[in-house]
Parts: sequence; structure tokens; C-alpha cells
Amino acid sequence: MIDFSSFKSIVSVIKHFNNEDICKQTLAEVRWGEDVVCPHCGKHHCARRADGRFRCNQCKHNFSCTTGTVFENTKLPLQKWFIAMYLISSHKKGVSSLQVMRDCEVTQKTAWFILHKVRSLYGQNDSTVLSNEVEMDEMYLGGRETNKHESKRTEGTQGRSTKTKTPIFGMVERGGNVVAMKVENTKGATLMPIVSQFVENGSTTYTDEASIYNKLSENGYEHLFVNHGKREYVRANDIHTNGIEGFWAHFKRVVFSTYHCVSKDYLQRYIDEQVYRWNTREESASFRFEDMFRKAVKSFVYADVLSLSSVVDVVAWKTKHDSYYWKSVA
Ligand SMILES: [Zn+2]
Repeated sequence: MIDFSSFKSIVSVIKHFNNEDICKQTLAEVRWGEDVVCPHCGKHHCARRADGRFRCNQCKHNFSCTTGTVFENTKLPLQKWFIAMYLISSHKKGVSSLQVMRDCEVTQKTAWFILHKVRSLYGQNDSTVLSNEVEMDEMYLGGRETNKHESKRTEGTQGRSTKTKTPIFGMVERGGNVVAMKVENTKGATLMPIVSQFVENGSTTYTDEASIYNKLSENGYEHLFVNHGKREYVRANDIHTNGIEGFWAHFKRVVFSTYHCVSKDYLQRYIDEQVYRWNTREESASFRFEDMFRKAVKSFVYADVLSLSSVVDVVAWKTKHDSYYWKSVA
């Protein structure tokens, strides 16, 4: 079995995945081990064909190790995918499509495509639970009106206005994980169901003085806050939101220094990528590379999808199985 901890640098990745056969062999090994499973019907009786593909003895479909994965139908050598995946895993601030273009010798369009597919693997888990001490805050991403020409400015966009800015809501368990997402608006009615889903009842929550957090105590949380409006940033040593603000600072640094700008449509994927990076910050690049690899080969059984009766169901199902989300949006 392949030992991912041996990938300590990009050179070791290039050396190991030096031809297409090794790449395919590794994909099949990580995906199935010894026991190949048909991605169409989920049965185990599959035979290897002379051309390296597989044939299911049950449903008679032919398939390859990339069927049903992010690599399906790719014309790009798998080696380039793996190099790009290593680059993304090892750079703390992420990589731009220009960087992938140069390092993998592909066009910028291809690099952009690879990055988006890889980013789609990072979907956050619906069942994450934050507990004990949880800080929460909102952030607004978008052009500053003061930087724009007078004719292009929009009236009334200061502070929490979402006319030109996209709001992002984030929560962090102290010493633990972050959950963050793009939200329609930052009204209490929008945020409270999100808090209820991710934060365990009875936890202590820390926020600023914004009225949107007024209902936290009613909803079963202890609620402590600092008054940023009065320049109060820490009270009694532990009442503050420095943890989640640290995440915002990191997120903004990446957006402005690596990507320069991000489109609203893809914003959630950039958020997911940085949440993943934050939540695995103690791990090595080789750990992240292995994790990404395993997420990439996680296939869905077509039979599951066939049992769903409507398009809405299929989209919901694919969204849930995050590694396939891109199929419904790409
Ligand atoms: Zn089958």
C-alpha cells in the first residue's frame, strides 16, 4: 500500500508518479484496495481487462479507476493533477491559477479548472459540532466604496449593509474547528438556525455587541459579548472574539494576496478551502495530500442516484455528497 507520509516535497511526488500506469494503479489501490467495486451497481465481482479497465460481471458495465471521480473523462495526465493537488496541499495561503499554470505546464484555463475541481473536494461537513466555548462573527467581503470613482459608488453601504458586499458568517470553537459560510444577510433570523445546527446547546458563545446575537441566550446558549463600538476588545481576560477574527484576517490575506479577487458565485468554495486549511493547520502537507487524494477517489454508486426520483433529489443528493457537488454546478 502506498505510504503518503513519504511525500515530503514536490520532487518526491514527481518521482513517484512518473508515468500514467503508476498513477492509475495508485488511484485504484487507494479507491478499492484489493477488492474492486463496480461504481455502477456496487457489486464486487469485477474483472480486470487487458487494457487496464475493469468489467463488472453483474451489470456488464466497463469502467476505469477514474469513473465517478473528479478525474473522470480528464484528458490531462493524472501526474499533473497530482502535482497540482500537492501544490494546493502544501501552500499555506493556497495557490493561484497562474502558479498552477507555470508549475504544471498547463494553460491558465486548465489550471483554473483543476483548482475549482480540487476546491470542490473541500465541502464542509454538515454534521460538524462546535461545543464548549464558541466565538462567532460576521465579515463583509466586497469593494470598498471609498476606493471607487464617485460615479460608481452606491449610497448607504457603510457598516453592515449588504448592498455591494457579501456577508460571511463564521464560528470557531476555541482550540478547535471553524465553520464558515456565505449568507444571504446577517439578520438574527438567518443566523440563529445556523448556530442551532452547528453549535451544541449549552455552549458558551462569544460575540460583539451586534443585536443579531440577542437571541442566543433565549436559544439555550450562554452569551457573553464585548462592545467593539466602545473600543472594548477584551473583557475579563476571556471575553473576546479574537479567534474568529484571526480566521477572517487569514482569509482576507489569502483572498487579496493569492487570488486578488474572487467571484461571488464561487465564494463558498474559497471559504471551504480556507476552512479546511485552518482546521488542518497542525497537519503536514503529506497528510493533507493523502486526505485530498482519498476525497478525490470517493466515488458514488450510480445505483444510489438512480433510486432518486426527481432532479431536485439528485441535486440535493450530490450536494450532500460534497465531492460530487461540482457535477451539479459545473
Ligand atoms: Zn456493476
